[in-house]
Amino acid sequence: MRLILLGPPGAGKGTQAQRIVEKHGIPQLSTGDMLRAAVAARTEVGLKAKALMDAGELVPDAVVNAIVSERIDQADCDNGFILDGYPRTLVQADSVEAMLKGKGQALDVAIELVVDDSAMVGRILRRAEEARAAGQPVRKDDNAEVYADRLRAYYKSTAPLTGYYHAKGKLKTVDGMANIDSVTAEIEAILANL
Ligand code: AMP
Repeated sequence: MRLILLGPPGAGKGTQAQRIVEKHGIPQLSTGDMLRAAVAARTEVGLKAKALMDAGELVPDAVVNAIVSERIDQADCDNGFILDGYPRTLVQADSVEAMLKGKGQALDVAIELVVDDSAMVGRILRRAEEARAAGQPVRKDDNAEVYADRLRAYYKSTAPLTGYYHAKGKLKTVDGMANIDSVTAEIEAILANL
């Protein structure tokens, strides 16, 4: 099962991906997490990506395409994976399609979490507050100012992906404003019908 989760920052992609991981035993490939790990480890990729990420801007395609391609080649992706935060542009969507074709694979479905984005900044600020309260590191881009830039980048570059996958007959939508368990149930219903 190879799927993509789509939706603006704060829509709940990470939370839902975690649940799919637990239920289906396929890994979540979050380019944001992979890039943050590279930043923390001060790798060459991390050093290149840091300033762009802190500003809410996209990291170059060549960087993310390469980290995803390498990750997909690992054995735990043999039965599938969840792409979270990637592809993020139409160009990346074409790249992932070509990349998977080269590996003899294809995406099964793109699931969009449809949300009211005016509520998303509140979710993001709560996520930052919860991390702070738990003594965990707070993401530098989880604040109202950078969130506005991330949302703009989403509408400019990522939102067109819904049309892209719709045209391929691969788009499914779920109500991302419903409670977490209901969203999970809707996603599971889609996955059961693949
Ligand atoms: P996320 O955790 O998905 O919100 O990603 C955090 C940041 O990582 C983004 O604001 C971008 O700077 C970078 N990033 C994550 N995924 C991608 C991608 N597919 N293409 C370009 N940049 C990305």
